[in-house]
Amino acid sequence: MEKNGYFLYTIQTGDTIYKLSNEFETSVQRIITANSGINIYNLNVGENIIIPVGNVVDTNEYYDSQKMYDNIDSLRIIYPFIQVEEIGKSEREKPIKCIKIGTGNKEVFYNASFHANELITTNVLMKFIEDYARAFTDNTTIYGLNAKNLYYSASLYIVPMVNPDGVDLVTGSIPIVDNAYINAQKIAESFPNIPFPQGWKANITGVDLNLQFPAGWEQAKQIKNAQGFNKPAPRDFVGYGPLTAKEALAIYNFTLRHNFRLVIAYHTQGKVIYWQFLDYNPPMAEEIGRRFANISGYTLAEVPYESSFARI
Ligand SMILES: [Zn+2]
Repeated sequence: MEKNGYFLYTIQTGDTIYKLSNEFETSVQRIITANSGINIYNLNVGENIIIPVGNVVDTNEYYDSQKMYDNIDSLRIIYPFIQVEEIGKSEREKPIKCIKIGTGNKEVFYNASFHANELITTNVLMKFIEDYARAFTDNTTIYGLNAKNLYYSASLYIVPMVNPDGVDLVTGSIPIVDNAYINAQKIAESFPNIPFPQGWKANITGVDLNLQFPAGWEQAKQIKNAQGFNKPAPRDFVGYGPLTAKEALAIYNFTLRHNFRLVIAYHTQGKVIYWQFLDYNPPMAEEIGRRFANISGYTLAEVPYESSFARI
């Protein structure tokens, strides 16, 4: 009966929210939050209500785009204060979804899975969304911070999967007879040293989304061309111009519409935290990087010159 962290329950004679919360090992607050308008002092026998149980997010299984959309739907049912916005579409017309939690003036932006085979970063942010929403509902803390204070002081925007097509390719969710798969395979044939599809980082057309931004793009192009990435590739092709990939343009436009105090892009593989862009030293950036390094065990690193360009 349990489905994605909640199930429907029909009220029986003698039920109270408190009794149900004990019976199903959930909290009174979670039941009330999931059932807006419910009169907890006068439950209607025969009425169906939502009982949140367990977790929505499974950190042991990879996300493809469909699983992420399903999980986002479930989180919205259990935590209706979560807002979901579509900020654009991928090349295969998959929605790029943004989840907003909080109502405060400080705007913060987290994003993950820019790079297809770094898809575990989606799990990290989905898990964080669920933990935060639950802490807010139960009026508890998250990493030592009062969740309600955080909620009312900051607006957190999270895009857990910037590159849904690339992730679907790596997870085997695009059928091998699909034209998108066949085209990607053709692109990969020119780069036999990069395993296919496991080594795929780009979007489905072979553009590296993290090399698409008009911030030193020409330099990035020169560096990557010299390394042989001068055409669509599983990784490191900067595109034929900045912001030519739909996913990068969506992130760019979304960023322009806001006044983010902090942007954190989740990558993996390197086990390092980058905090700079060339000689720019944003206030607090090094300190924030240091905290991430402490909690993750990764190294706080200077960005290598050749990796400095065209990235978010
Ligand atoms: Zn990456």
